[in-house]
Amino acid sequence: MTTRSTELLRVAHARPGVTRADAARLLGVGTGAATEIVSRLAQLSLIAEQPAAPSGTRGRPTTILVPHPAGPLVLACAITHEAWRVDVVELGGAILASSSGRHASAAWAEVVAAVTVAVQRFQQTYGGRLRAMGVSVPGTVSPSLRLTASNLDWHDADLTALWPGPVLAAGNDATLAATAESHRGAAVGATVALHLRIEGGLGGAVVDHGRSLLGARGAAGEFGHMPFGDPAIACPCGARGCWGTAVDGTALARLLNTPTPPDPVTYARRVIATAGRAELEAVRIVAAALGRGIAGLVNGLDPDLVTLGGIGVDLLTTVPEEIDKAYRAGLMPVHRAAPPPILPATLADDGPIAGAAEEAWSRLLPELA
Ligand SMILES: [Zn+2]
Repeated sequence: MTTRSTELLRVAHARPGVTRADAARLLGVGTGAATEIVSRLAQLSLIAEQPAAPSGTRGRPTTILVPHPAGPLVLACAITHEAWRVDVVELGGAILASSSGRHASAAWAEVVAAVTVAVQRFQQTYGGRLRAMGVSVPGTVSPSLRLTASNLDWHDADLTALWPGPVLAAGNDATLAATAESHRGAAVGATVALHLRIEGGLGGAVVDHGRSLLGARGAAGEFGHMPFGDPAIACPCGARGCWGTAVDGTALARLLNTPTPPDPVTYARRVIATAGRAELEAVRIVAAALGRGIAGLVNGLDPDLVTLGGIGVDLLTTVPEEIDKAYRAGLMPVHRAAPPPILPATLADDGPIAGAAEEAWSRLLPELA
């Protein structure tokens, strides 16, 4: 019974507005059993029912399953190189409230303080309904929830400081964006999906049959530190020739002979949007470095498709032919006839925070029913 209840909650979460009849079919249970499970979940204030629009087909009218108005909520928190945001997310993924601010590469303690104020305000509004938090961060997360973000000079930062409750999930922004893209975005149904995200540097994840490859230490997917870049360039990670240094805002600044920008994302977007000749030439060089690296990863991983997030979307919109040319030139013959498509991530900049919400829900759901 409990397993089935959890399964039904999973279905209601994955398919907002699913009818009770369809949920029963997806669970492989009869309508009587489904009615019983739903009424139990309603008693627990987890699910509510609303009349479904008439379907025009035969059979008794069904209901749609919606989040209970007094039901559990999760907090999704995204910390980027320049800003933070906290969302209150209900079952099904809808955002009820949001709070955000900028931190401009501040010390970790300042970011924790700002997020804590936002969380406390939400606790005043939603009280005990807030049951879990998922956190997206621009670095690697250890199994004990310690963050290292070398680009921001944050080392061994304690993520448990962000949420006092027992259910806390945290992950790398690109990994979570990949998770979200596979749950609700362009990669739904893919066998192997590769997601790449350019912010300050480049991160990514391989999602194999719906599961992100995390690595033994939670540090997998750091494709930006593969040596596809210029060996003369030192990366903030300490290695040389990292791919990330060839495709982000710091790469554009180097090509344009400008000092390293403190806000590489905003800077890169400004350069990409500028139509000047020098800017466009720099953007083309960066786009080619991106396409060439993607070819290397496609040769190595054989994905169905590649989704791009962050600055990758801006590059794909502005100079798609430059990316495509370098991509095709680097592909092995087996991929050349029908190259896996390179697509903008559907969830765009919301990918990491949507993935953080998904992670929080997947931890919380088994504890509810
Ligand atoms: Zn590096």
